[in-house]
Parts: sequence; structure tokens; C-alpha cells
Amino acid sequence: MDQLSDRIKSLPSSATLAMAAKARELRAEGKDIIGLSLGEPDFNTPDFIKEAAIQAVNDNYNSYSPVDGYVDLKEAVCLKFKRDNGLDYKPNQIVVSTGAKQSIANVAQVLLNPGDEILLPAPYWVSYSAIATLCEATYKEIPSSIENDFKITPEQLEAAITPKTKMIFFNSPNNPSGTIYSEEEYRALAKVLEKYPDIYILSDEIYEHISYGAKNFSFAAIPNMYDRTITVNGLAKAFAMTGWRIGYIGAPEWIAKACTKMQGQITSGTNCIAQRAAITALTESPERIQFMVEEFKERRDLILKLLGDIEGFQCNVPEGAFYVFPNVSAFFGKTFRGKTINTASDFAMYLLEEANVATVTGEAFGNSNCIRISYAASTEQIIEAVKRIKEALS
Ligand code: PMP
Repeated sequence: MDQLSDRIKSLPSSATLAMAAKARELRAEGKDIIGLSLGEPDFNTPDFIKEAAIQAVNDNYNSYSPVDGYVDLKEAVCLKFKRDNGLDYKPNQIVVSTGAKQSIANVAQVLLNPGDEILLPAPYWVSYSAIATLCEATYKEIPSSIENDFKITPEQLEAAITPKTKMIFFNSPNNPSGTIYSEEEYRALAKVLEKYPDIYILSDEIYEHISYGAKNFSFAAIPNMYDRTITVNGLAKAFAMTGWRIGYIGAPEWIAKACTKMQGQITSGTNCIAQRAAITALTESPERIQFMVEEFKERRDLILKLLGDIEGFQCNVPEGAFYVFPNVSAFFGKTFRGKTINTASDFAMYLLEEANVATVTGEAFGNSNCIRISYAASTEQIIEAVKRIKEALS
């Protein structure tokens, strides 16, 4: 154990995966656990994408692909960026990776030096801070709360910037809050960043299609931000393709080149079959996956209505993604069977043990008053889970 590197010792484990593992353990003991902790659609990959993958196998796509992805996939990504985001990228600005997670890790590895600082509007996706830690960079959280719909203000951004600030990570629609920044709000944040030309922006738009009305606005669409924004996206969420592992970036060419160099030494590019299927997924109209979005919207409305009946749960209305992020601080200080709930972690553990429902503590996302509940689950599971939560809290 002591022989392990300082690097791995300083790396926190993923809280969402830890909760899923704990739920599995309890299931193995015979407990009927409802898992609402993972960020994974419960749909199968649509048939038109599966067929493209089968075709690729039969067409003998079995060799190493170019490190940054097949040229025709990169062209499909450029067309998608133009069609959905109004962004002009050329194929030499695109890098396809093994999931958006690797895309983000690549960008961090090629831009951050030890001691650099990144800004994380909180709540934020758990891996951002861990990825920064791996680069020996530090991170600073910019807090938000349910009262302002989990959005940060330009004043907060300005106050958080220091000479060490190298990057800021935006994520809209947001995991875990479901919040979507409007064009106007993004432009106001960009006004602040205009004054600091050495700060780079990573815009993680992986939930862009899972939006219940508000249109996704890409940060790179602000003209004077384009040259220092890295737009991250992927197929996992909207196309129900988590296990296929396809993510991609659109970025200034010099950053794309560096990311290609990085993954050339680490993965040699991602799976060739998944890349061929991704061409079909991205080229077809987003209308073809709309049925999943509609289903998620119904589930969001259902879970909000059910949670609204539990005294002490404070929810906002998430506009996208498939999570609710209720403030549960009203329960802090309460004791049951000799155990006191003092934190969101205690609360999530209480729900696991007393309601047999797995959620994730907000602490992992930089907010210690909330828990994340994923509603990427069946209607029956949602109804049963909230019933159990209500009973356990009564
Ligand atoms: N960004 C966010 C905000 C996410 O929630 C996730 C997945 N949980 C990712 C990136 C990573 O996606 P992928 O599965 O493509 O690596």
C-alpha cells in the first residue's frame, strides 16, 4: 500500500461509484435496494445505432483507428456542432475519446501545470475536482444555492479569479442540479472573462439534448470566447450509450493536437466499432432520441410531485439532465435509533439503510445541503422509492 504513488493516494474515489458499490453489497445480503444513484439512462441503445455497429463488425472494422478518431466521424461531429450549436469547427479541431470523461481528462492534462487553479461553479460533476487533483492543480468552488436556481453570478466569478486561475469548468445542463444557463446568463459571465484573456473555459454540454424546453447555448458561440473554449460532448447520455465510451471535443487546433498527442500515449484512440456507430447516431436527426427525453420529462414531473409531499424536502425545478438535487438540511440535527443526521452524507446513508434507496450525497458535488436523486429509473421504481423515503422520514 505504501508503495503506491502519491498521485493515486491523493486521488479521491468516485462518490457515485462508491454508493453504487455499497448498494450492490446490501443487495448481496438480500436487501431490496432501489438504485437512484447512478447517472445512466435505463433505456437500451436505439436499434438504428446498434445496426450501424453490427454493420461495422461485418465490414471488418477491426484495426486501430486514427488516434483522434475516423475522419468521417470528425466530419459528422463538425456537422453536429453546426446543426445543434451554431459552432464552426473543422475536423482538425475535433478529438474523439473514450467517453467525455477522457475528453475532459485530456484537456486538463494538456493545459494544467502543478499549482494552477481551476474554478468550479458548484454544484459540479464529481470527477472535475479529481481530474484537477491528478494534474496537481488546485480547485476553487464558487457556491450557488437552490434559491438562485444553482447558478453563479458574474460578481461571484469576478471575485473568485486570482492570478493562478487557469481554467473554469461550466456544465449546462448541469449534473447534479439540472440547471441550464441561458444565453444571456452565459454572456454576462463571458463579459467578466473578457478581462482575463489567459483563462480557458471548458464547456461540458453532455446533457444538451436532455432538456425540457430551455435551449442549450454553447459557450463557444460567444465570438470572443471561441478561441479559448473547449466544447465537450459525448454520446453516453442522450443516446443511451454509456458503455460504448464515445466522447469528443471541439477546441482550438493547438489544444486538439495536444489532446491527440496525450491519448496517443494512453489509449491509441477509442473503439473502432463504437466510432462507426457514433457516425450514425450524430448524423441522424435528434428527433429520433426525443422519445427518451419525453419519458425523462414525465419522470421529472412525477418525482417532483411526489417529493413535494414530503415535508422538509426543498426542490427547484430542474430544466434538464435526469437528476433532482433537493436541499435536505431541514433534517439535520434529527436523531433516529441513536444516530443523528448532521450532514447530507448522513442523510444519504440514512435513506440507504432505512428506506433501502440509494442516492448520492451533495458533498461529493460541492454542496453539503443537498442530495442527488437520479430519476433515470422506471416509474414504478420512482413511486416505490419515494414512498419508502417518505415512510423512513415520517
Ligand atoms: N460530464 C458530466 C457532467 C457527466 O455527468 C458525465 C457522466 N456521468 C460525463 C461528463 C462523462 O461522460 P462519459 O460517460 O461520456 O465519459
